[in-house]
Amino acid sequence: MSTTWNGEYQMSEEEKLHDFIRTKIDEDNASGKFEGRVHTRFPPEPNGYLHIGHAKSIVLNFGVAEDYTGLCNLRFDDTNPATEEQEFIDSIMEDIRWLGYDWEDRLYFASDYFEKLYEWAVMLINKGVAYVDDLSGDEIKEYRGDLTTPGRNSPHRDRSVEENLDLFTRMRAGEFPDGAHVLRAKIDMAHPNMNMRDPVMYRILHQPHPRTGDDWCIYPMYDWTHGQSDSIERITHSLCSLEFENHRPLYNWFLEQLEVYHPEQTEFARLNMTYTVMSKRWLRQLVEEGHVKGWDDPRMPNLGSMRRRGYPPAAIREFLRRVGVAKKANIIDLGLLESVVRDELNRTASRFMGVLDPLKVVIENLPEDHDEGLDAVNNPEDPSAGTRTVPFSRELYIERSDFMEDPPRKFYRLAPGREVRLRYAYFLICNDVIKDEEGTVTELRCSVDPATRGGDSPDGRKVKATLHWVSARHAVDAEVKLYDRLFTVENPLGEKDAKLADLINPDSLKVIPDAKVEPSITDLAVFDRFQFERLGYFCVDPDSTSKRQVLNRSVTLRDTWARMQKKGK
Ligand code: ATP
Ligand code: MG
Repeated sequence: MSTTWNGEYQMSEEEKLHDFIRTKIDEDNASGKFEGRVHTRFPPEPNGYLHIGHAKSIVLNFGVAEDYTGLCNLRFDDTNPATEEQEFIDSIMEDIRWLGYDWEDRLYFASDYFEKLYEWAVMLINKGVAYVDDLSGDEIKEYRGDLTTPGRNSPHRDRSVEENLDLFTRMRAGEFPDGAHVLRAKIDMAHPNMNMRDPVMYRILHQPHPRTGDDWCIYPMYDWTHGQSDSIERITHSLCSLEFENHRPLYNWFLEQLEVYHPEQTEFARLNMTYTVMSKRWLRQLVEEGHVKGWDDPRMPNLGSMRRRGYPPAAIREFLRRVGVAKKANIIDLGLLESVVRDELNRTASRFMGVLDPLKVVIENLPEDHDEGLDAVNNPEDPSAGTRTVPFSRELYIERSDFMEDPPRKFYRLAPGREVRLRYAYFLICNDVIKDEEGTVTELRCSVDPATRGGDSPDGRKVKATLHWVSARHAVDAEVKLYDRLFTVENPLGEKDAKLADLINPDSLKVIPDAKVEPSITDLAVFDRFQFERLGYFCVDPDSTSKRQVLNRSVTLRDTWARMQKKGK
């Protein structure tokens, strides 16, 4: 892979907004190449789940169509029944919609073109530029030669048109077992481009297809399907990732032989990101070896994982806009995605309070049955989000790390005899510390100043810290999952002699089984995103029940805690 590290090639803002592909479309429109039409497609193979690399292609294809008031198709390149499933088709459509794109009535399948492709294959046989071969897969590979050695012609290359037609018809009719024959294009076994050395067009595969069932026992190869499908759909700009650059001469050859409409193919660099892997093959290995808990594990780069993790689709689109589209491959820092996610959530996420490591606080100057509702601001960045009522009572939980019995000089939070602010509530002072036999603090005896309701003191008295809290009686139990990057190294596939498994970050998932959270969390729906004040942004996991919430942390906060301290708030 021709990889350069992030920083070697910096695109200007202008280039990102108007990349080389859009520039090319401008030129085509100016010259009238496609009569001003712009028609793109996103062409996934339904053999896995979409990841953020695919999102780059989705945003590019649908985005270009939007920018030029053109159209973008969704087309499944479903040529390999051995690896394809309806489940993948459904999840791919769900993910594209979630990202914010709509193919309207333009949903296509390459399998819809199987009959047409067969007809075209017969046409190439008749033209003498396709033949049935009997060599085995291994023999074909061996005959192909390599980059420095020309290939050799198959002994079956010069079969007559009649014999080829007869064999190909019988291949379709199911007369032969898997692997007995293939149909190949007759191009040039010494061609410097390996893809041109008589590529296979059809193989025999006695396997039902998710869409065509048992109709076929021969299936077209991807390379024989993709370009013709684009042609049938009258795509103007076929945008492909860079690995298809070497296939372009073959796609051109097929279209020229068939004398059909010819789209223009342009290649762009795939998205690569640090601390992750971005290919179905490696992602499958992570799932199958049990390093993650399934395809939508929030640590994976899959779109389903990002939804579960709480990444807003708008942030993913904005991230990809900032990355831009270029011809040259590079690796993008995962931190950029996290920071875009954080900015978006800061603007849009409602705030709540939750305590991850609860320490009980008993407020001695309140009666046992004290029950009070306090107003809390839902989103300081968005006044239209309004306020909510947070229940307050005699027993609360605060974060264990917010108390120290014997605080060092720079620790400003709660300590014996010290006063702090409880967010949206009162000033609170710690009178007494209760411990168990081992000396672990189990409870704090405190009192509040009733004159400070709402969190301000009438006499201008200052406190150095504001703590979040949850009323013990009203709290809801939660399991909270904190995530970190999946790998310990920036480029896991670049590590020589290392097994992927050995590069996994052992701290990529930390489960907190017994957090206590504010009851309004139960009003949220699965996948809703929110902020726990001082702890980060979170998202409701589908495993949540009414009794026990399961919450995933999307990203940490920027250090708002330090800023709050400075302001004395
Ligand atoms: P993978 O490498 O994950 O197996 P793929 O290329 O086999 O991906 P497809 O279903 O063929 O998966 O991908 C659909 C489209 O998405 C293709 O046009 C492909 O070029 C594009 N694509 C895949 N990965 C990336 C990526 N990392 N960056 C940009 N585009 C990508
Ligand atoms: Mg592919």
